[in-house]
Amino acid sequence: MKNHLTYTAIIAISAAFLSACSPDTDKETMRVEHPFEPNAHLMEWSASCPTNGTWTMALHGGAGVIVKENFTAEKEKAYRDTLTETLQTGADMLKDGASALDVIEVTIRKMENDPKFNSGKGAVFSAAGFNELDAAIMDGRDKNAGSVASVKRIKNPISLARSVMENSRHVMLIAEGAETFAKEQGVEMVDPSYFYTERRWKQMQAKVAKKHGAINAETKYGTVGVVVKDGCGNLAAGTSTGGLTAKEWGRVGDTPIIGAGTYADNKYCAVSATGTGEYFIRATIARDVCARREFLNEDLQTSMDALIHGTLTDMGGDGGIVAIDNNGNYAYSFNTAGMYRGAVKSDMPVSVSIFK
Ligand code: ASP
Repeated sequence: MKNHLTYTAIIAISAAFLSACSPDTDKETMRVEHPFEPNAHLMEWSASCPTNGTWTMALHGGAGVIVKENFTAEKEKAYRDTLTETLQTGADMLKDGASALDVIEVTIRKMENDPKFNSGKGAVFSAAGFNELDAAIMDGRDKNAGSVASVKRIKNPISLARSVMENSRHVMLIAEGAETFAKEQGVEMVDPSYFYTERRWKQMQAKVAKKHGAINAETKYGTVGVVVKDGCGNLAAGTSTGGLTAKEWGRVGDTPIIGAGTYADNKYCAVSATGTGEYFIRATIARDVCARREFLNEDLQTSMDALIHGTLTDMGGDGGIVAIDNNGNYAYSFNTAGMYRGAVKSDMPVSVSIFK
């Protein structure tokens, strides 16, 4: 709550200042003019863990047909730089004693504001021409969780998901109801036109023209997800997405479904997924990573590979997951050509990868 109030206050003061300098600048325009500034300074957080603790952070920026031949050197560098910067932001916070939840919110907001990813500003379009955003966050301490689905006016859906978790009695809010709650909470709202990008619009039109439907093998998913074990030893997971290009009829994917695309339990693991959401929902992939550790005592990589290369692949689904276990180990597993991914630990520098 405090975070959102502080954020709103900063926006309000800047808006007042700007309108005094230039009477033509209205609030909405000012927000849209600065969509890519780093978020760390826009959200206040306070140290709650020891500064000398051990910690781990891992993230993904989507999986899919991500092959080197389709990348120019500049494009590859742009993705690598953003993944590195995002991990470095998280590492700096964790070094200073930030909680897993604060790191997840700040770093996912950063990627939501970056049009390269299919979340926030870069969200894909539904077949009807809307950006309908889904997000979830889960706290491994008590398995508290919050999620939102099909929101059209929330600049940073991960922050609204966190508000649902912390400031409501519910776990999941959808569409207009979620937006009414956002207004009450002072979560930043934008005109739906904020989410327009020509690239995403053309992708949607191409898919609709080919009558491809939302799920097909050529899809590049671009969801973002972060998992953290903080210096207090707490685990958390968060995921944010625009869903699948050309999705129809109010379709909701795995991202905001706790146990499908997002899950965290301090005792076992924290997981974030990306891929064909329908399969991740049916196979409860994220929860099953932790369940396999709980009931089969498997190590993280074994349980993840069993689910991605076994269960998911056998069902015909594709995508990937990043996860952290209760000992601070991280792992990736994906059955696609690539997955934007990276990790950093208190005793390991940032490392990022894109291709298989
Ligand atoms: N998993 C997301 C969904 O099905 C899509 C993605 O990962 O990009 O909504």
